[in-house]
Parts: sequence; C-alpha cells; structure tokens
Amino acid sequence: MSKDKKKQEMLKNLPGVDTILELSQEESTFQDVPKSVITGAIRQTIEVLRGCILSGENGFSEEELETEKIMECVKQRVDANMALNLTHIINGTGVVVHTNLGRSLLPEEAADHIAGISGRYSNLEFDVSSGTRGIRYALVEELLCDISGAEAAMAVNNNAGAVLLCLETLARDREVIVSRGELVEIGGSFRIPDVMSKSGAVLMEVGTTNRTHSRDYESAIKNETALLLKVHKSNYRVVGFTSEVSLKELVEIGGKYHIPVMEDLGSGTFIDFSAYGMTREPTVQDSVKAGVDVVTFSGDKLLGGPQAGIIVGKKKILDRIKKNPLTRALRIDKLTLAALESTLRLYRDEEKAVKAIPTLRMLTAPLKEIEKRAEKLYKSLETLDDSRLNVRLMDLSSRTGGGALPMMELLTKCVGMTIEGMSVNSIEGMMRKNKPPVIGRIEDDIFIIDLRTVLDDELYAINKAVADMLKRGG
Ligand SMILES: *Cc1c(COP(=O)(O)O)cnc(C)c1O
Repeated sequence: MSKDKKKQEMLKNLPGVDTILELSQEESTFQDVPKSVITGAIRQTIEVLRGCILSGENGFSEEELETEKIMECVKQRVDANMALNLTHIINGTGVVVHTNLGRSLLPEEAADHIAGISGRYSNLEFDVSSGTRGIRYALVEELLCDISGAEAAMAVNNNAGAVLLCLETLARDREVIVSRGELVEIGGSFRIPDVMSKSGAVLMEVGTTNRTHSRDYESAIKNETALLLKVHKSNYRVVGFTSEVSLKELVEIGGKYHIPVMEDLGSGTFIDFSAYGMTREPTVQDSVKAGVDVVTFSGDKLLGGPQAGIIVGKKKILDRIKKNPLTRALRIDKLTLAALESTLRLYRDEEKAVKAIPTLRMLTAPLKEIEKRAEKLYKSLETLDDSRLNVRLMDLSSRTGGGALPMMELLTKCVGMTIEGMSVNSIEGMMRKNKPPVIGRIEDDIFIIDLRTVLDDELYAINKAVADMLKRGG
C-alpha cells in the first residue's frame, strides 16, 4: 500500500467524536466531569491524532487508533483539565520567604479565621455596637498600634501599594528627597524611581551610591520639598567606604524644616532577630520610636502573614492617607484581613509568635530540628534500596529570601541526591513534575533538598517522588 493510501485508510479509521463520547458514558471516573470538558478532551485528542496521521510522524501506528488507546488519552486530558491550577508544592529550596512559591505560610490560626469568615457575612464594614457603617482598617488598627507603638495604622493590598498611596497623598506634584544609595529595585517590578513617578511625585536624588550625608539632604530642601524618604536596603548591602544618614538624624532634619519623613521598611519585622542568633534587622518599633511620620512594610515577608501592605505612623498623616480615593483601588480583601488580624494577635506573645508563625519558626529553627528531619528523609530514601540511588547528608546554608537579611547564612541540613544513569537536570525536572512538585536546588551536580523549608508531613511525598522517579527513570 502506498504511503498516501495508508494515510487515507487511517484517517477513515479515526473514530468520530460521537463514538468516543458514547463510550465515555461508561467511564465511571467521568461521572462528575462536565460534559463540555469531556467533549473538549475528545475533540483535542482526535485533532492531535489527525495531525499525527497527516504529518506521517515516525513511529505512529494504527494501534494508536484503537478506542482503548484513545480513551486513555482522553482520560489524561480530562484529569489535567479538572485539576486545580494553583496547587501545593514542596519547598526544598531552603529559601523561607520565597516569592515565587507563595512567600509566607499562614499560621493555623489565620487559616482557621479565613475558613470561618469566607462562607458567611461578617462585620467587615459594619460597627455592630452602633449599627452604623464601620471602617475595615479598624479591625486591625488597634492591634497594629499596640504592637508597633504607633498612633495610627491601616493596611492595603501590598507594600508596593502602600508606598504608592503614601507618596501620592503626601508628595504628588512635589519633591521627595531620597539617598542615591537607597534607590532600590525589588524583583524587577518594584523600583523606587518608577513608583515615585507613578505617584506623581518628583524624585530628588541626593548623595552618592556609597555615601550620603545630612548636608546632602539639607541643601536639597526647598519650597517644593514634600517628603524625606528612607528606603530600607532590603536585598543588598553597600560595604566598604560608606556613610548613611540614620533615621533618627533624618527625623531631626525633617523636624527642623517641617517636612514629614517616611520610611519604606520593605520586609518589616516586629521581633528582633538578633535575640535568636541572627543578623539584626531594624524593627517596626525602632522606626516608630525614632519618630518617623509614616512607615510602610509587607505583611507576607518577615512578618509571616498574608500579602498586605501595612502603614503605621502619626495620626495626622494617616488621616490624610485614609482619605485618598486611591485606598479604594488598593483596599485589602476580607480574607486577607482575617488572616492579618489572626497573625497580628499572635505577636502579643513573642514566644508564641515564634512557634506559631511558620516563617518565624523556619527562620529560628534549631539546627538539631532540621537535622532530625534530614536524617528521617535520608533513612527513608536508603530503604528504597536501589543501587543507582546515592544519597548523602550535607551541611549547607539556607537563605531568608523575600528581600530580607540578604547577607545572612543560616546553617542548615540538606539531603543530596544523585542517580546513576540520570543527569542532575533530569532529576530536578522529574521531581518538579511530580504531584505534588518537589522543588530543590542543584549544586555541584547534586540535587539538593534543604529540610529547613520542608514540613514534617511532606517527607513521605518526597520519598514517593524519588521511588516513582527510580521506577520511571530505570
Ligand atoms: C518587598 C519590598 C517592597 C514591595 O513589597 P510587596 O509587599 O512585595 O509589595 C517595597 N519596598 C521594599 C524596600 C521591599 O523590600
């Protein structure tokens, strides 16, 4: 038979959508699947087969046209279509605040609060005692003030929004003085000069990359100056011959010339990490105590709560910010508020906070605890008893992530893995495509899982991922 004739023959044998659809009615796993999803999957499968026949792809045989084979493909498509897009993954990178992997894990208290509020009506903007309209920020304002020592507070969508809102309120069409050493970029889409221009404020750079002095700020002050801004060097450090004006000095300059001072703290923390043997990161309380007029920070970086932008400061300034119509566009959602409130409540007892807030727990985890988890994984992988698999315990360091504590190396325990006959890149790829995906890192041709960011109940899934990989890889 000629090639063309064979093609014609196969196209003729290709079953129609209706035939497969009828067959699919006997498929018990399709019971709860919408019909549109099933027909879509059948159409796509047949379309792909038709394409394969027409292109005469190598190795394509008539067997692929058997109905059972076709049903198998349809089932795979239906499964993929029915699975949720946003799913759990296992973070074996050791980066605690990993922006791509969802930043902070919520404390149980926060997750419970979300579950309790989400399916019911709530007092989101209703004052139950007076029966009148309430303000959503009021639900967290007192807590934020109690913890930070500030006079007033509010929360918006995220810190980028908080910075935009503050600049627009306080400095639109006027000048904001910032040190050249603090023109920060965070992950590409947040850059101080860009947010500044979007807010309508005019950036007035002073000093140099490595050194900025009080006199630089003072000589730049003129009638158009609306704000002195300090930006926390979240994700980098300038070392060597350096000098910067402290927040306290900046507040003094602001007081002398009657110009408000704002600080973008970035990550923002309520606890002093040096008490846990880590590098000291300035706290929100430090900033408030220094007398700064307004401070902004993230809810989901070192704070360990939901994505949010928190603004604390002087009441007079916060009153102006709260009146800005932009607050409507940046407003915080009720589920976020629920999570934020519960997380903040934990901070009233630091000892409790450090245990209950996963971000803090992971950052301050004793090496012994991580080591125990690493040994457990190591032993479970040994029991797979596969001579191709080579596992080892490794002493490495993890990173905080989220643009915080950039210079700090946290000693950690990892499990490293190589497999005979498999490249490290294919190990990484197969672990990543596992369900749930296991994300690790590669160092010196070894696939590495850092146990700092792995939860105890995820060890079994990692073991299974490796077992499956050995089965398929071999
Ligand atoms: C992270 C960060 C931001 C942005 O905060 P998001 O909560 O991600 O919007 C802004 N400024 C600084 C200094 C930061 O570190």
